[in-house]
Amino acid sequence: MDSTIEAIRNDVVRRNPGETEFHQAADEVFDSLGPVLKKHPEFVQASILERICEPERQIIFRVPWVDDAGKVRINRGFRVEFNSALGPYKGGLRFHPSVYLGIVKFLGFEQIFKNALTGMPIGGGKGGSDFDPRGRSDGEVMRFCQSFMLELYRHIGEYTDVPAGDIGVGTREIGYMFGQYKRITNRYESGVLTGKGTGWGGSLVRPEATGFGAVLFAKEMLATRGLSFEGQRVVVSGSGNVALHAIAKAQSMGANVITCSDSSGYVVEEQGIDVELLRDIKENQRLRVSDYAEQRGSGAVFVQDGSIWDVDATVALPCATQNELDDVAAKRLLSRGLIAVAEGANMPSTPEAIELFQDAKILFGPGKAANAGGVATSALEMQQNASRDAWTFEHTERRLEEIMANIHERCATTADEYGLPGNYVAGANIAGFVQVANAMLALGV
Ligand code: GLU
Repeated sequence: MDSTIEAIRNDVVRRNPGETEFHQAADEVFDSLGPVLKKHPEFVQASILERICEPERQIIFRVPWVDDAGKVRINRGFRVEFNSALGPYKGGLRFHPSVYLGIVKFLGFEQIFKNALTGMPIGGGKGGSDFDPRGRSDGEVMRFCQSFMLELYRHIGEYTDVPAGDIGVGTREIGYMFGQYKRITNRYESGVLTGKGTGWGGSLVRPEATGFGAVLFAKEMLATRGLSFEGQRVVVSGSGNVALHAIAKAQSMGANVITCSDSSGYVVEEQGIDVELLRDIKENQRLRVSDYAEQRGSGAVFVQDGSIWDVDATVALPCATQNELDDVAAKRLLSRGLIAVAEGANMPSTPEAIELFQDAKILFGPGKAANAGGVATSALEMQQNASRDAWTFEHTERRLEEIMANIHERCATTADEYGLPGNYVAGANIAGFVQVANAMLALGV
């Protein structure tokens, strides 16, 4: 790391003590930027990197709500408005007990560059709460969402900050939050939230977009080596929105997807996962992958202990959560014929795992490029809302395909330009950073 970047890194650690996920996300970007700062002294003069690392605004608030037993509960809400050089802050809300400021900052930081890569006019932000939706009744989830929005509404708006979903926040939660926003403001401001239901301002393809996008990105990577998904043995982790649609899309391209997982364990099914049953179990029955194995019968084996990355694969699509794939898993996968990884989740591979993948010269698509299809389709939802239009599935999917192909092309070309062919991590970091940096320079201090 060059000395300018090293000093900035030390400042990030000092200013954000204990926020290890944020430090990790920042380090990954810093590692790519040495040659960029050499080439662009104007970025150094304007302290662009220092400014990018400091969120424009950070909001932390109390969220009181009443549970079904009548007891008052307290959670903490967050919104980190990181960078608005390219457009209104844009990024999801995560409801999960692990959420604290460091998680929100890591996600918000990644979102800046991811959103830039989409080519859409959106800045970067992220939010959420340490609320755990698991085991909560529908009424409890609604009251929580309403209370959360009772504070959040004053910070957001279609030209200011546009939240969406992430882990623990789907169409149901977006609906409750949108209803509350509408009630408080007396405005049907569709563009204030994305991930809405179709029929009340949502976009077709938005639910599928992140998972589809990750597979489309992997398809582009495979094509650079004359390969396709046909006949690949694919391990997908997770069983949420991203994983479900990644499984479906990879299957539609001829892959055999043999796993899914959640915090209870993982399922291996050599004949291929039945994605419709999995969707029903997770989204309608709201049960676990262990129940999937039980309902599916003998072909599906549920494994409670151990790691999903013990399952041999040619393509790995980590679609669960941060740091789920470490160096031990990477070594194992590499020794068993792995050729490609595309990150459907945000930062699912540890830095050590990424280094191993890169040393082995396999195809590695980092989350900020590979999972950008979700937020890109959110931007398409904003376009439809702004023009009071609703596009067809086919049209929207075609736009998503174009966007993913463009992101792949941009990452690959930028990596070539900097003498790092095939390095999608560097390509994504540099292309995203340079775009935001140029806009920040243009907009002044
Ligand atoms: N949470 C998603 C992400 O990590 C989507 C954000 C959005 O649609 O605004 O990119």
